Amino acid sequence: MRIFRGFRVQYNDARGPTKGGIRFHSAETIDTIRALAAWMTWKCALVNIPLGGAKGGVICNPKELSPSELERLSRGYIRALGRFIGPEIDVPAPDVYTNPQIMAWMMDEYQTIVGYHAPGVITGKPLPLGGSEGRGDATARGGMYVIREAAKTLGIDLRGATVAIQGYGNAGQNAHQLLAGELGMKVVAVSDSRGGIFCADGLDPAATVAHKNATGSVSDQADTTNISNEQLLTLDVDVLVPAALENAITKQNAADVKARIVAELANAPTTPDADDVLFAKGAYLIPDFLCNAGGVTVSYFEQVQNAYNYYWALCDVYAQLEDKMIAAFRAVHETAQRYRVNNRVAAYLISVQRVAEAVRLRGWV
Ligand code: GLU
Repeated sequence: MRIFRGFRVQYNDARGPTKGGIRFHSAETIDTIRALAAWMTWKCALVNIPLGGAKGGVICNPKELSPSELERLSRGYIRALGRFIGPEIDVPAPDVYTNPQIMAWMMDEYQTIVGYHAPGVITGKPLPLGGSEGRGDATARGGMYVIREAAKTLGIDLRGATVAIQGYGNAGQNAHQLLAGELGMKVVAVSDSRGGIFCADGLDPAATVAHKNATGSVSDQADTTNISNEQLLTLDVDVLVPAALENAITKQNAADVKARIVAELANAPTTPDADDVLFAKGAYLIPDFLCNAGGVTVSYFEQVQNAYNYYWALCDVYAQLEDKMIAAFRAVHETAQRYRVNNRVAAYLISVQRVAEAVRLRGWV
């Protein structure tokens, strides 16, 4: 028997049931979860979906756990916290080191407790259990749409433009696939927690995923050069995509970042003082709660489909996601121009105003 410590923070539900992922990570703390729950609130408001913000986490090293241990941990989390969640209360989803199988176990445990079907209790489920088409790569796809919009705005031609991606989980792998496959960009470097690889001619996504699946890491792939995570962040590329964990770009390395566009697919990859450095040197930053909002947006579509028990075609999911991401991008870009602030401040101006309006209308203040 082993005891694990886990959390769930519901930050603000003025606009709707709270929403946000569950992370399984050995460095998890209540403070990171609390901060991430706040960012979920701003994220849902920014893409204008009727949800609040929450986040959960368990302190554990999922790489050390067998599948059956992972299942028991997932079910244990719901036995401990299940009475605080529900389709109309708080709806978890996948995040760092959690996946559709874990969502399936959690949904099943919840339904065992309440005694009825409630697929809308959790999103990011496998398709046969009420998942949505397009949820798997939604975070990266939403990021791709806003990178494309940013490039259009800046007059950058993305065909053949170079990209470095830090982090090779769900977001990083799918970003590799989509940026290369759909936008024709050249992904010259990727990394994971064990290190990175570089290839000036561009890395093939299928070969890189296969290598990672076979060896546990992207490093040491044939015809590539091993690099460190630090080197990856400061490569001379057109677009840098931090898609790993928080605090990757700091005051120490921000001055050396050469990318024209920094697209934050991870949550909180840039520290506040690094933000100022990037802005001052003219990098175009697409802030996390805009750039990675595609995941929660398709989670919302999943909830909608669960609620009326009717499921959309993939093309409908893509079309609705694209509309939401473009509208949010334009709002942020225009607000930044109008008030002469950076994109992150602009995104906060929009989302805090929306949450404040809901709070005021409810009479909470
Ligand atoms: N974990 C993702 C995020 O940080 C998705 C959350 C969700 O789908 O609820 O946005």
